[in-house]
Amino acid sequence: SDLSTLISARVRDVPDYPKPGVLFKDITPLLADPVAFAEVVTALAEGHAGEVDHVVGLEARGFILAAPVALALGAGFVPVRKAGKLPSRTLRETYDLEYGSATVEMHTDAISPGDRVLIVDDVLATGGTGRAAVELVRRAGGTVVGFSVLMELGFLKGREKLSDVELRALTSV
Ligand code: IMP
Repeated sequence: SDLSTLISARVRDVPDYPKPGVLFKDITPLLADPVAFAEVVTALAEGHAGEVDHVVGLEARGFILAAPVALALGAGFVPVRKAGKLPSRTLRETYDLEYGSATVEMHTDAISPGDRVLIVDDVLATGGTGRAAVELVRRAGGTVVGFSVLMELGFLKGREKLSDVELRALTSV
């Protein structure tokens, strides 16, 4: 599609970042282009008008996309952060990485039972972070109405970890 072509043109491949062998997808050129940024926000929000109470953004680049999506939908913004960053009481989820593990947190009172939640992030890689975010929302009693990302790295099969949610990727590589 046109949008997929625009995204591909504005996301930069950075080899060997953050470590050798990784081809990092850098979205900063896209964010710096006001037309591309606006089109991406519109596409992430599309179809969710009136059905979302909160948009959850995943630290850190997910925040940049989730906040304008929340405003576009008339919904509130809720951050999911790395361990130790949120000041009040939290729910936590720990998940496995290639080497070791990672923990993410959400404020216990950020989502109320029955809330309808859209989760937004920049890149879906292995799906570990996304899976943890879905669990946090559900433990708080929320319903995940969608999980939307700018870009999916298909070869990492993150989609398989999110088979129970409505997953939208604006582009897949
Ligand atoms: P996952 O848990 O393996 O799916 O990794 C997803 C998280 O890592 C997301 O929050 C992304 O922001 C980040 N991430 C992984 N790979 C990339 C990349 O190539 N570009 C930008 N972010 C990435």
